Amino acid sequence: MRTGIGFDTHRLVEGRRLILGGVDIPHTHGLLGHSDADVLTHAIMDALLGAVADGDIGQHFPDTDPQWAGADSLALLRAVVARLAAQGWRVGNVDATVLAERPKLLPHIPAMRERLAAAMGVGVGAVSVKATTVEGLGAIGRREGISAMAVATVFPDA
Ligand code: MG
Repeated sequence: MRTGIGFDTHRLVEGRRLILGGVDIPHTHGLLGHSDADVLTHAIMDALLGAVADGDIGQHFPDTDPQWAGADSLALLRAVVARLAAQGWRVGNVDATVLAERPKLLPHIPAMRERLAAAMGVGVGAVSVKATTVEGLGAIGRREGISAMAVATVFPDA
């Protein structure tokens, strides 16, 4: 078994959709980025790549490449899982925490888990998503952005 860690942050701005774990969440602001800026999915992708020491998403999906402009991050996650499979690895489980002052994410977590699990080809029981505020502290507390961290385990394909 191998484990990996991932972390990501995106800035919150007006006039963008807020996509977390592949779920479109109604909010006054959305995350800014080259792709759909799904910070949760990005952290999970980096955790998976980290588990097999295969670089990071910036390497595989550079934000200078027009191919990834506005990209659906769940499609990128599927590509990462396929990349791992090609190297003989399958996803064990994922645990992630989203750091956001607003909006309240709890109602959206079941949908995020379902979409992430489907994208990774694992059961929903293998995907944990948690959310916390940062008690108003720092940039995230001022609602300037959202961060996410994730750990993942992978197993050799039997
Ligand atoms: Mg990112």
